[in-house]
Amino acid sequence: MVSIKTARELSKMKDACKISAEALRAAGEAVRPGITTLEIDSIVRKYIEKQGATPSFLGYGGFPASVCISVNNVVIHGIPSKNTVLKEGDIVSVDVGAYYRGFHGDNAYTFPCGKISAEAQALLDATKESLFEGIKQACPGNRVGDIGSAVQKYVEARSYSVVRDFVGHGVGAKLHEDPSVPNYGTPGRGPRLLPGMTIAIEPMVNQGAYQVKVLDDEWTTVTLDGKLSAHFEHTVAITPDGPRIMTLCD
Ligand code: MG
Repeated sequence: MVSIKTARELSKMKDACKISAEALRAAGEAVRPGITTLEIDSIVRKYIEKQGATPSFLGYGGFPASVCISVNNVVIHGIPSKNTVLKEGDIVSVDVGAYYRGFHGDNAYTFPCGKISAEAQALLDATKESLFEGIKQACPGNRVGDIGSAVQKYVEARSYSVVRDFVGHGVGAKLHEDPSVPNYGTPGRGPRLLPGMTIAIEPMVNQGAYQVKVLDDEWTTVTLDGKLSAHFEHTVAITPDGPRIMTLCD
């Protein structure tokens, strides 16, 4: 069931979203050659807990860490590890959520580690821009398919591909709520967008083919062809005035 938030609820949820955004920024500031993904996880967890919030992902479905950190060909759900040492040229997708006073905020960003290749930068740019193409469609009266279609069109015009097996989602009192928000679709199809809905729009874009596989740890999701993947996400509220990005820092 889709939950509609009141203005008061949206304003409470904004606080959770701001903490998520600031935690993501802290993660980005920590990304550098030589750091382990486990160290970044610890930085983010401490930041979130200092705000009186809880990392949304810790223990969610059994996830063993506070943050998903997915390097290079890892699409999503990378598990932070002391054995994963970042190196110059890596692209590092960090997905983080915070739960605060009854609501979750959810956001992701793919950070460059030091100097990255022009090809990797182009993938990051296109994925980030596709997120904003999707957000533009998050208006009352539109449908979920308008978002997915806008993302897909932008991505495929640049010869990248959109991951199908994982999608965006409603977010609010629960981390994952209805509706599903695929990054592909047909304009005018799918559930209608209503004021007070809050959704996580999160394109996962592959440099090569869209197929992915989940590794034996049952979390780490990688591109089937071993090429790079990027991931950008915002929590967005549908308002009478159009989309409002909730996961922004001050
Ligand atoms: Mg999400």
